[in-house]
Amino acid sequence: MTSSADSRAASSASSEGKAGLTLARRLSWLSVSPTMAVMAEAARLRSEGANVVDFGAGEPDFPTPDYIKEAAYQAIHENFTHYTLNAGTTELRQAVCDRYRADYGLEFVPAEVIVTNGGKHALFNLMMTLLDPEDEIVIPNPHWKTFSEQARLLEAKPVFAETKESEGFRISAELLGAAITSRTKVVLLNFPSNPAGAMVEAEDLDALGELAATHGFYILWDDAYGRLSYDPLPSAALRRLRESIGDRFLIAGTASKSFAMTGWRLGWAMGPKEVIGGCAKLQSHMTSNASSISQQAALTALRGDPSSVREMLDEYRFRRDRLRAALLEIPGVTCVEPRGGFYLFPGVTAYLGKGVGSATELASALLKEEQVAVVPGPAFDREGHFRVSFATSRDAIEEGILRMKRFFGRRTPRL
Ligand code: PMP
Repeated sequence: MTSSADSRAASSASSEGKAGLTLARRLSWLSVSPTMAVMAEAARLRSEGANVVDFGAGEPDFPTPDYIKEAAYQAIHENFTHYTLNAGTTELRQAVCDRYRADYGLEFVPAEVIVTNGGKHALFNLMMTLLDPEDEIVIPNPHWKTFSEQARLLEAKPVFAETKESEGFRISAELLGAAITSRTKVVLLNFPSNPAGAMVEAEDLDALGELAATHGFYILWDDAYGRLSYDPLPSAALRRLRESIGDRFLIAGTASKSFAMTGWRLGWAMGPKEVIGGCAKLQSHMTSNASSISQQAALTALRGDPSSVREMLDEYRFRRDRLRAALLEIPGVTCVEPRGGFYLFPGVTAYLGKGVGSATELASALLKEEQVAVVPGPAFDREGHFRVSFATSRDAIEEGILRMKRFFGRRTPRL
């Protein structure tokens, strides 16, 4: 038995419930997110009436724009309330293609798109289509845990490329290249990234494309925050990638973040017909089409005037700058400027040591003492950091700044 098979066999024992209520072994391969403990405690405090400043949110605080909601009302009134094509309506898949052409100059046709129940589902469809047990998927770290957990669920092996805070968490071809082996099936790129707002530079994409052509792995871009970028995306390099390794270039996208549509559960996967066909086959037996009403709403969102996204982005930028500047005023706290998304990923190692040894403990203390909720870095496999979401109001941000300054002011950093 391989060591991973050993540990799987061993962990199967722990998935035995009470009185023989045995669950499938695969459940024991998944970790319970450390986020949960802090978030559950924040919810408990709130239910007791505490005024919690919540920097934990993983979603926009804006409502879905009205013009998008109108399209959903209309879909219901017009009885667009039945099954659609499994892969999504042709109009929506065309609109996805049009959006990628307009935004990045990338050319896809509807047969290369499948509409899914959110970005997470798009990723899982792709991973299920591509990953066999023991295959490796390279993931830049810190990372959003769903990437590695989905791979583990398929008995594939996540291999982490450790990005450095000192390099702005740059996802470099050098780091990725060092993680590639003969078993590498997929290299996952999430940019702008959750949690660090990291970007991939054009030259790194070019170099990675050459590696993919030589080694034959897929490059999967999670574009969840693509339209929430403060800096331009490396569109020309993305186009070169599409031209050079088009049959191995995949995209997982979502309406959730850019259009403030997290509850609508609408995403998409893009890639060569063979891969998308594989996703469709799986999807046809698992969920079928995404909600017909959400599809009509997303159609309007994707075809809509990008100004509503731009307005949200301008507000996010303001909050990012304000909150980051305030965090940098705290002695010993570091904070890379995120290039997209709505999270800061400040370093708090100067405040760890005897007594409070981890970011999780420090986050618990912050919640207990000042009722400020942040997500500890280990939830993204990176110790010594907090993820601080600025998808919350300016007032909450100001209040949170006061409280955090008070909290850190009571402590002495190791400088
Ligand atoms: N990718 C990343 C990096 C994310 O952070 C998220 C949401 N947290 C998603 C994909 C998926 O979002 P959804 O399933 O709501 O589309």
